[in-house]
Amino acid sequence: RSTAVYLTPLVTKLHKDCATPLPVLRHVADAMAADMRAGLAAEGGSDLKMILSYVDSLPTGSEKGLFYALDLGGTNFRVLRVQLGGKEERVIATEFDQVSIPKDLMFGTSEELFDFIASGLAKFAQKEGNKFHLPVGTKREIGFTFSFPVKQTSVDSGILIKWTKGFSVSGTAGRDVVACLMEAMERLGLDMRVSALVNDTVGTLAGARYWDDAVMVAVILGTGTNACYVERVDAIPKLQDHVSSSGTTIISTEWGAFSNGLPLTEFDRDMDAASINPGEQIFEKTIAGMYLGEIVRRVLLKMAEEDALFGESIPEKLATPFALGTPDLCAMQQDTSNDLQDVGSILYKAAGVESNLSARKIVVEVCDTIVKRGGRLAGAGIVGILQKMEEDSKGLIFGKKTVVAMDGGLYENYPQYRRYLREAVTELLGDDIAKNVVIEHSKDGSGIGAALLAAANSKYR
Ligand code: ADP
Repeated sequence: RSTAVYLTPLVTKLHKDCATPLPVLRHVADAMAADMRAGLAAEGGSDLKMILSYVDSLPTGSEKGLFYALDLGGTNFRVLRVQLGGKEERVIATEFDQVSIPKDLMFGTSEELFDFIASGLAKFAQKEGNKFHLPVGTKREIGFTFSFPVKQTSVDSGILIKWTKGFSVSGTAGRDVVACLMEAMERLGLDMRVSALVNDTVGTLAGARYWDDAVMVAVILGTGTNACYVERVDAIPKLQDHVSSSGTTIISTEWGAFSNGLPLTEFDRDMDAASINPGEQIFEKTIAGMYLGEIVRRVLLKMAEEDALFGESIPEKLATPFALGTPDLCAMQQDTSNDLQDVGSILYKAAGVESNLSARKIVVEVCDTIVKRGGRLAGAGIVGILQKMEEDSKGLIFGKKTVVAMDGGLYENYPQYRRYLREAVTELLGDDIAKNVVIEHSKDGSGIGAALLAAANSKYR
């Protein structure tokens, strides 16, 4: 097919506003590194909170025994067990289960919610198959992945700051979520202990590190985004009287809040203003899955209004926030047919618009522009983290193989996004250094990662 797109003034302006040439990428990487330093220097010193995970011991591969993981991050919770056999046998067996959380418990009391979770865990623990063996003299230990804002107080405790993602449970905010879970387990007579409380990024890092010592960074690109990495304790000025036998600890950057020097458009500003957290999470709103579709919808709405892109009338759907999802953009970008038939039917289904071929071409161009900006900025952010680490330990990052573990539905499913991300990393680092930086998809590593962290932080070591 002819790929020529008639560049309307609006498309040309969008290209210009979203452009991420090398100097812009370089600025973003440098600013990310500088913001990381500022956040490590003092609490509240930067857009980046640089949260201490208190995880100083990462899995090495030699862990042995039976460990559990419990993952609560949305409307489902997942439980998993793993039998670890050490360096030779590695993962001998795993089993998992998923339970959806009844809607009314999302609006109930803390006790009701944790009783439900503990009873799901108890049911799962009762069905332990014969491949699983608990070493004598030990308890079943759990790694708890809890993906809500927590003020971590040690590797196995943390205070809930507030519920998010539609949860409105009374009595948990301000309390240690591990204590809440332990109390519920006690009420049931379930004798297990929580050895690690982590977020999903830290779980992903641990899950990938178990297989490969070169893993230094983990990034989630899903509905939202975050990144964590291995930091030297002596490079964290705000850290007081923390002793780490490894000399390193994991820092959760909370990089979604980054905002320095991003190429933003009127569409980004309008979306931000209409969001539940205006002025916050600007990097996340530019690169993460929840928002890419919505940015494109806003662009298309303006093109419909000003250029009659889809004819004279404007369907209500196109004017409805979040009508277009990032999976829709992805599906449209995979259409290689001459008449862009899939693009047409997706536009009709999601946005209620009829489109001719030239309109469809423009739509694909808009998707590509927004996704290219997102992927390239995510790549620049990753380079910023690596650059910061390299500055503190010359040659230990760029001079040898370094792995960045990636997870999340956006990275996993969107090939163009992945490609743009990788291209930006290579442009910034140059071919020689970029060869040492391996970006690896670590699918659902965070579940098993939490169990591995329970093992690495076991009380029975
Ligand atoms: P979450 O981040 O919500 O925990 P995931 O990591 O599975 O969960 O990410 C889900 C997100 O990934 C969706 O919100 C969507 O933005 C993005 N996504 C899912 N499927 C696709 C797809 N086919 N193409 C592009 N993006 C996708």
